[in-house]
Amino acid sequence: MEQFDLVVIGSGPGGYIAAIRASQLKMKVAIIERYGTLGGTCLNVGCIPSKAWLDSSERYHETVHSHSLHGIETGEVKLDIKKMGGRVSKVVEGITGGVAYLMKKNKITVFTGHGSFKDKNTITIKNDKGSQEIQAKNIIIATGSKTSSLPGVTVEKEQIITSTEALKLEVVPKHLIVIGGGVIGLELGSVFNRLGSKVSVIEYADSIIAAMDVDMGKELQKVLKKDGMEFHLGHGVTSVARNKNELSVKAKNKASNEEVELKGDYVLVAVGRRPYTDSLGLENVGLKVDERGRIPVTDHLQTAVPHIYAIGDVVRGAMLAHKAEEEGVYVAEFIAGQKPHINYNLIPGVVYTWPEVAGVGQTEQELKQKGVDFKVGKFPFLALGRAAASNEKSGIIKVLANKNTDEILGVHMIGPRTADIIGEAVVAMEFRASAEDIGRISHAHPTYSEGLKEACLAATENRALNI
Ligand SMILES: Cc1cc2nc3c(=O)[nH]c(=O)nc-3n(C[C@H](O)[C@H](O)[C@H](O)COP(=O)(O)OP(=O)(O)OC[C@H]3O[C@@H](n4cnc5c(N)ncnc54)[C@H](O)[C@@H]3O)c2cc1C
Repeated sequence: MEQFDLVVIGSGPGGYIAAIRASQLKMKVAIIERYGTLGGTCLNVGCIPSKAWLDSSERYHETVHSHSLHGIETGEVKLDIKKMGGRVSKVVEGITGGVAYLMKKNKITVFTGHGSFKDKNTITIKNDKGSQEIQAKNIIIATGSKTSSLPGVTVEKEQIITSTEALKLEVVPKHLIVIGGGVIGLELGSVFNRLGSKVSVIEYADSIIAAMDVDMGKELQKVLKKDGMEFHLGHGVTSVARNKNELSVKAKNKASNEEVELKGDYVLVAVGRRPYTDSLGLENVGLKVDERGRIPVTDHLQTAVPHIYAIGDVVRGAMLAHKAEEEGVYVAEFIAGQKPHINYNLIPGVVYTWPEVAGVGQTEQELKQKGVDFKVGKFPFLALGRAAASNEKSGIIKVLANKNTDEILGVHMIGPRTADIIGEAVVAMEFRASAEDIGRISHAHPTYSEGLKEACLAATENRALNI
């Protein structure tokens, strides 16, 4: 039986990054993936295809709606959604092929098939050709997550769909009803809104992107509403019914108990994801999942069996690709005897709508809850030269800093390219910068990143210069 220092089950961003780092640290590594392509949810049906759709739909929307503003007349603009989807597939093909190349380059053995525990050091791999066993000194469970639904709502994958099917649609829905006003629902909702669908969002919470800073959801809802999206917040879905090709979604207002009924041709169920541990044989090694289906782990990402680790979406914490990656690196280095560290407070969160929303550190509501004495600096994109040049009028950058020490505690932004600007905030906070530190650093002009400098100056004795 072939023996490895490390076997990784699952090839998503957690798993494949763990495998590469372990190989760099001179371990003999194998990775097991049940699907034919590597890269997991993120590369196949998550981050990458959704961003490719967002990019294409943004170009279409711009061509139709704002090119004439720049003096560019295009005539009739036609949408070929099959071609658009074809480009997305090619992007996915390229990037998953890239992971296969990285496995080869790092001499990582790839097994295609479903991996499960036979015992604490033996993994069985099953595929349609049969079954084989391999042995490992250390094992990482990086099996990720799957889409979930609501009780009583059957996702039939034709017109009642999840993100996985939405990313492969070859028609533009007339009326797309999105259940869930979180990141995935809003990103895919805005794709189809830009392509011409009527989009209605039903959300149980009283705001969209409820986990982010309170101002971000409000601002984003304003912009998306202006773009034509409709919102039913504070509504719980009670039923989804299909009559031939017409779908009816009923939802009740939490406060008034009043019912609304929406009729459309597609329903996107985007109510979150569940950790995936199906047929993993956890019982054979004495491991149990918690009440939310996650594998409990220690601060070192060890399960109850110390040489079996778990990372990414299958454990506690944000379901984000870069969080899974950090954990993959952490475990590989920990096994190698190093002393790695992850600052979970500084894992940024991004929503790739337009404008983009990004945040890192603590939100205003969290600081209030903890009773921290803080100050707020805000700067609107409207007042930035770079934003004016590109006609980007929406959005703000908000900096939260400790009132006594000026240390930056949280940065939240909605506006153009904030997915990239947030990186500067992460670096600043990792080095425990004060708001004044960033306010005194030269930022190229004109750039969107000047907005962060200005918001930091606003937090520092209200010293913003351009407003
Ligand atoms: C539509 C969408 C958009 C997203 N956009 C973003 C984004 O922009 N940014 C971001 O950070 N995150 C995004 N995410 C979340 C991101 O995809 C996940 O957080 C990330 O993929 C988690 O990585 P992972 O390695 O834990 O698991 P996964 O990527 O889920 O990979 C797990 C892999 O394990 C395999 N597997 C499972 N069980 C077995 C088994 N028993 N044997 C063999 N193989 C197995 C699975 O087939 C899968 O390939 C998005 C998700 C979705 C659905």
